[in-house]
Amino acid sequence: MEPKQAKPAPEARQKAREAAWARIRSAKAADPVRLAEQLVAGNRVALSQGITWVESRLPEDRAGAEALLEAVLRLKTPGHSSLRIGITGIPGVGKSTMIERWGQMMIEAGHRVAVLAVDPSSGRSGGSVLGDKTRMSALAVHANAFVRPSPAADALGGVARATHEAMLLCEAAGFDRVLVETVGVGQSETAVRDMTDVFLLMVLGRTGDELQGIKRGIMEMADWVWVNKADGPGAAVAAEAARALQLALHLMPRPEHGEAVGILTGSGETGMGLAELSLAIEGLGERLRNSGQLDALRTAQRLAQFSAHVRLALLDAVRERPHMQAKWLQLQTQVQHGQISAFSAARSFVNGLDSTL
Ligand code: GDP
Repeated sequence: MEPKQAKPAPEARQKAREAAWARIRSAKAADPVRLAEQLVAGNRVALSQGITWVESRLPEDRAGAEALLEAVLRLKTPGHSSLRIGITGIPGVGKSTMIERWGQMMIEAGHRVAVLAVDPSSGRSGGSVLGDKTRMSALAVHANAFVRPSPAADALGGVARATHEAMLLCEAAGFDRVLVETVGVGQSETAVRDMTDVFLLMVLGRTGDELQGIKRGIMEMADWVWVNKADGPGAAVAAEAARALQLALHLMPRPEHGEAVGILTGSGETGMGLAELSLAIEGLGERLRNSGQLDALRTAQRLAQFSAHVRLALLDAVRERPHMQAKWLQLQTQVQHGQISAFSAARSFVNGLDSTL
């Protein structure tokens, strides 16, 4: 018999979230329309509760979460005054340090800033790669900012769905700059790219060879690349990295908006280069807005969310039907033993689903 394993931390984390949620549900605020009204009026507690609701993995919360989203969207038609900025980079590249500073600059410029995270590892490894509340400590307590730790990971699709919905709630609550950060793990960049208007890749100043390690697919998603930690002794290597990146990016297709991918070096810690980065990103956002491309982007984002929702709803439908689970296991065994082709098994599974939906 296998030794009994210690209870993993993710479960404890999930339990805490569910307990928090149970408290919210039992409170009067669990009326979605009322919560939507409070949220749109700028009530931060209502925003937190709303996000907890859309993050809930319990099937019985889904209808309420949808009612909340619908009520919010009815009360506040999403405008295009917001800018959704995706930020990706490996752990340690300096995302939180940079966002802490950049977020405050945005606030000084009159914006309200929300920071969300898509962290595919949170909950699985006992702790999120993107960390929790201790990050961005100044921003986290600022009246014009809202920092939300990453939701507990379910499937990446589930985390991405929750983050996208959280983003809509933040915008409805008056946050007009939404930063969504993620790490270079799995498909999380694609998920964040699909829900944001502008995408920033953060890298470290490294030599040309080390830069080869950056996944090409990620480079192709970027609108801007920021070589971070270009302070002190890091300055020379950052400049060298920027030159190497320039050459590499030259060979790649341009982003859909047609502007060449920009590269900047700077330091999130000292703030060097951040004003330029801010101008660059805001400038791109403005051009996208004025040319009508932002409309097209938002439509594409809604369509991407629609397919993601359909996939998740199908998965939920399967999970909620024990006989479909049994069928899954049965077909899985047959595929494992080579008794049926993967293709036929998949078709047989989907056909079975047809008659139960
Ligand atoms: P994240 O994991 O990408 O969010 O990275 P953090 O912002 O937590 O930063 C990781 C480490 O790098 C921390 O020890 C920071 O103090 C340090 N760091 C972050 N930004 C800079 C920077 O611009 N320059 C230097 N020299 N160090 C930095």
